[in-house]
Amino acid sequence: MSESDCPQILKVLTTVLGDGVLQPGSEEYKKSNGSYFSAFENEVKPAYIANPSSAEQVQHLIKALRPHLLSGNCQVAIRGTGHTPIAGSANIQNGVTIDTRGLKGITLSEDRSIVELGVGETWATTYTELEKHGLTVAGGRVGRIGVGGLILGGGLSMFSKRRGFACDSVTEFTVVLASGDLVRANAEENPDLWLALKGGLNNFGIVTSLKMKTFKSTEIWGGLTYYMPETFPQLIQSTCDYAYNETDEDTHIMCSAGYGFGHQAITVVMYHTRGLENPPALQRFTSVEPQIKQMGTMRKSTHLGFCDELSKFTTDGVRQYWASITVKPDVSLLGRFHEKWQTAVESLKDVEGFIFTLGMHPLTKTLLENSAKAGGNAKAIPPSDGPLLIILINPVWNLQKDDSRMFTYIRNLVAEFRQLADEKGLLHRYIFTNYADAIDAPIAGYGDESVARLRETSKKYDPQGVFQRGVPGGFKLPDVAT
Ligand SMILES: Cc1cc2nc3c(=O)[nH]c(=O)nc-3n(C[C@H](O)[C@H](O)[C@H](O)COP(=O)(O)OP(=O)(O)OC[C@H]3O[C@@H](n4cnc5c(N)ncnc54)[C@H](O)[C@@H]3O)c2cc1C
Repeated sequence: MSESDCPQILKVLTTVLGDGVLQPGSEEYKKSNGSYFSAFENEVKPAYIANPSSAEQVQHLIKALRPHLLSGNCQVAIRGTGHTPIAGSANIQNGVTIDTRGLKGITLSEDRSIVELGVGETWATTYTELEKHGLTVAGGRVGRIGVGGLILGGGLSMFSKRRGFACDSVTEFTVVLASGDLVRANAEENPDLWLALKGGLNNFGIVTSLKMKTFKSTEIWGGLTYYMPETFPQLIQSTCDYAYNETDEDTHIMCSAGYGFGHQAITVVMYHTRGLENPPALQRFTSVEPQIKQMGTMRKSTHLGFCDELSKFTTDGVRQYWASITVKPDVSLLGRFHEKWQTAVESLKDVEGFIFTLGMHPLTKTLLENSAKAGGNAKAIPPSDGPLLIILINPVWNLQKDDSRMFTYIRNLVAEFRQLADEKGLLHRYIFTNYADAIDAPIAGYGDESVARLRETSKKYDPQGVFQRGVPGGFKLPDVAT
């Protein structure tokens, strides 16, 4: 937005929101804009931050901003809790950042089978409220993440094997469209939009609330087990074996090699979501030695207890870089990834504040089948493609001066991983949306059929492409803006 457009846009915003508009120079602006997960997002400086507290205010905001979005003299970003590490995903230089964290509310249906969540809720506030009623939902694994962004990217949950992606539990979205109209999208009303939003990010409107299926919350057995670095080859075997052969739908794992502060360790986060202690499905992990027993946290707790635990493992405001590819589980391929990761650790360990994890997150066939059974989503991964492994490459560092070195090294590393997998015929087109890098096009990985459907849905609900051109951040629909 040019300086000459600012007074007019400010007038539009204050007419709708009164003092719910933050401007550079104020403490509130500084605090809000400094509260993203990654330093890269904190360094983006919007001209204004708009804080709506109701769906009606979002409607008025879009109606008032629409002519400016269409003429191109103003662009906006839509912010959830701001956990995507990519600069400009949920923030916008010189534009208007619409912060959805004020859209609160947790309301159970009369029969308690469905809960409506304002997108400004986090998984921690959601589980806290639901556990009072003996209930939970298949939401995120980390309590402090927001409801909106995780669901709109699909979302992995500790219940995913039984219930599919987190978005598969959504029975209805309430969305402000480009016209400013507030509509519902569910299996009967606007079903194409319902499907599109399950993985379709900010391409169709601003979601203000969503409804999810609840279920009884039971005690869960799980936590983190730490291992010595030499166990990784064994744990790769266990992860592949789990991905191919394990049928217990109440289990969930993620396995990571980690480097930090001069040391390496392996962690496996694992759960039995019906509270079975050390079940046969997880013994292929719990029996691996040597473990670092004094650090382990395996125990019985609640969904909230485990999600709070994972909330403590990451720090806000540092230089966070996430990248991901998806592969068929294969012991020798993962061994090669590990070798290359080790070389990267050696090469980069002089970088200040360097922490580096290489994670594996299985998408089992059962998970993909249960996802499809739940009504489908924009990701549209055929269950026959399973099992798959999401590989998460996540380096962290402190200083801006190392950005270029880190970006170049890690992007080359990911390109090498991709090439290795491709040569063996083990690379899958899908990139887990919530872990994708800025240079990726994860929506293209949903496949031609899904992309064609998403384009049609965009044309139907947003014929002038307001959410393609006026909201440039995040992953856009391939080719639709041209
Ligand atoms: C510590 C940590 C743990 C994580 N754990 C998990 C996990 O267990 N499972 C998983 O699947 N992912 C996980 N993620 C990834 C996370 O789901 C994504 O980063 C997600 O985008 C975060 O949601 P957010 O609300 O913070 O998003 P933001 O960064 O605020 O936004 C992400 C994108 O969604 C859009 N968006 C947000 N809200 C709306 C809305 N209401 N309407 C329209 N568009 C909107 C934004 O414009 C933006 O493009 C984790 C991330 C972190 C940092």
